[in-house]
Amino acid sequence: MLAQVWGCRGSVPTPGPSTVRFGGNTTCVSVEFEPGRVLVLDAGTGIRALGRTLAGRPCEIYILLTHDHWDHIQGFPFFAPIYQPGRHVRIFPSLHGQQGISTLFEQMDGAHFPVTADELLGKVELVNDHPTDFFARMNLGLTTIAANHPGGCMGYRVSRAGRSMVFMPDNEIDPPADASFTRAGRRTIDDFAAFCDGADLLLHDAMYTQADLPVKRGWGHSTVEQACELARRARVGTLGLFHHDPDRTDPQVDALQAQARVWLAKHAPSVRCHAVAEGMQFDLAQPGA
Ligand SMILES: [Zn+2]
Repeated sequence: MLAQVWGCRGSVPTPGPSTVRFGGNTTCVSVEFEPGRVLVLDAGTGIRALGRTLAGRPCEIYILLTHDHWDHIQGFPFFAPIYQPGRHVRIFPSLHGQQGISTLFEQMDGAHFPVTADELLGKVELVNDHPTDFFARMNLGLTTIAANHPGGCMGYRVSRAGRSMVFMPDNEIDPPADASFTRAGRRTIDDFAAFCDGADLLLHDAMYTQADLPVKRGWGHSTVEQACELARRARVGTLGLFHHDPDRTDPQVDALQAQARVWLAKHAPSVRCHAVAEGMQFDLAQPGA
C-alpha cells in the first residue's frame, strides 16, 4: 500500500508564500492498495492534482468521503477522470447519515459550477455495498469509527498484508459533554485508541494547540497534544499531524512538529511524528513507513 498526500489543509484552501511547504490544498489522500487500484480518501482541492496524474494511466478509482463539509468535497468538480470517456469512478455514499453522494453532485448544478453532473463523460457510479464488504473482496480490510465532529464524520482504518493506516482528518478527541454533535453519542480517547491500536500510520486532526482552547473547544477538532496522546495510547508507528489550521504558517507548523516530537520522545519514544505536507508518501509495504 502506498499512501500519498494531496491536501492536508483544514477548512479552506490557503495558497500563498506562507504555506508553500506544507501546502494549501484541502483534504485528499490516495491509497494505492495494489497496483492499479486507488482508494481516494476525501475530495478537497488536493484531488485536482491527483486527478491529473490518474488521468494519464489506466487504474480503478474509488472515492470514499469522511464527511460532506466543504473542505472535503470542493475539489471533486476539478477531478479530471470524471470527464474521461470510458473511465469508471466508483463513489461510496456517506456513512454518517448525510448525503455524501449528492453533496458531491449538488455543487455541480450549473449555478455553482458550469458543468452539471449528468454531463460527465466518465461513468461515475454510486456503490451500494458497504465499503467494508466491497473492499473485503479485494483483500483490503476497511473498518470505520464515528468521529466527534459537527454534522457527523467517519474515521477509516485500511489494512492489507498485516500493515494498516488510520485516516481521521476531522475529529475532536475530547469534546465538551454538551457539544451539539455529541448528542448522538460521544466517543472517548479509549474508543479511538482501540480503533487505532498498533496502526503503522495514523493521520489525525491536529488543527489546534492548547493555546487555542478553550475558545475552540467544541468546534470539532483536536489539539496537537491530544493527537500525540492518542498516538501514545494506540502505540502507532507514525503519527501524521493533519488538517493544519488555515492561519498556520509553515514556520508555525514546524514549531508544532518540533513540540510534538519533544513530547513523544519523552512519553512514547517509539512513535515517529511528522507534520504532514502535500506530496508526502508513506510506503506501507515497508517497515517504518
Ligand atoms: Zn475539515
